[in-house]
Amino acid sequence: FELERLGIHDSVDAVFPPSELATHLADLPVAVDVIGDDEIAACDAVVTLEYREAFLELDWIHSIQAGVDRFPFDDLEAEGVVLTNSTGIHDRTVGETVAGYLLAFSRRLHDHVANQQERRWERPEWDEAFTLPGNTACVVGTGTLGRGVAETLGALGVRVIGVRRSGDPVSGFEEIYANDDLLEAVADAEFVIATVPLTDETHHLFDADAFDAMREDAYFVNVARGPVVDEPALIDALESDSIEGAALDVFEAEPLPEASPLWELDEVIVTPHCAAYTRDYFRDVGEIVRENVGRLESGDEAFHNRVV
Ligand code: NAD
Repeated sequence: FELERLGIHDSVDAVFPPSELATHLADLPVAVDVIGDDEIAACDAVVTLEYREAFLELDWIHSIQAGVDRFPFDDLEAEGVVLTNSTGIHDRTVGETVAGYLLAFSRRLHDHVANQQERRWERPEWDEAFTLPGNTACVVGTGTLGRGVAETLGALGVRVIGVRRSGDPVSGFEEIYANDDLLEAVADAEFVIATVPLTDETHHLFDADAFDAMREDAYFVNVARGPVVDEPALIDALESDSIEGAALDVFEAEPLPEASPLWELDEVIVTPHCAAYTRDYFRDVGEIVRENVGRLESGDEAFHNRVV
């Protein structure tokens, strides 16, 4: 197809100012404009956070997220719309966020921040703080996120094991289990970290059985998607002390409803789906878009990061 006008949909504003990306891509040989819903039809392609039905009239959609579970793959395929995603850029950002969660738990920083809000000078119990080396993290999903988490935690001395569909080795992971052995894989880990995409296969992958299989002193981390976790089962596990705590960036319902017990549970860190945020996000997305526009211009329709 002929690409003449690329719209930057204003929904990306939740992650970065759309104008930053438009300016970054201004040197492309196509028109690049920030657009709202009423200007979709005037474009051939769009860079977006959210999905709109009007996108079905376009040739190409680029998602600024890696997770594209909200896009209707079948409809896009039927209409011949190409969908690309932003996989490949979130290794370091999410890796550092996860390292931050682990350091908060081990060095008790979340308690100190909470105490500070109340001007309370309170030291941890003698046996609460620990250091990370010697602890094991089980990372479930060994794509960009999983590898970034493994590299960042590995540098902190954490022993990292992984779970993937095939069970084949991956560099940066000391040991790999196949999905079928998930319960065995999580059993000896102080930290269990979800980094899988949301698919039919991973929906509620972390259920009551999975939390039962974890150590009582285990912390669970979800930086993947809310529905990979059976959230009521997680809340039960936390409330009954069958696991120690959790750091959660994603939830079954977002924003996390005010009534959710997760807000107030001890040893739970809640972050608002921002594990991958960085001031460089627009540049990272821009490079994927630039690569694909370049390929289109040279007549190569093999899109980088193509999903549909
Ligand atoms: P990726 O495509 O690089 O990696 C996904 C990996 O998961 C691949 O290795 C794939 O083989 C594997 N996988 C697929 N189905 C699986 C299954 N059933 N069991 C085990 N492994 C399976 O994607 P990524 O960039 O690593 O992102 C992964 C997911 O993390 C995204 O789909 C998105 O939902 C989520 N994510 C969240 C944030 C955040 O802000 N919290 C940021 C980026 C990505």
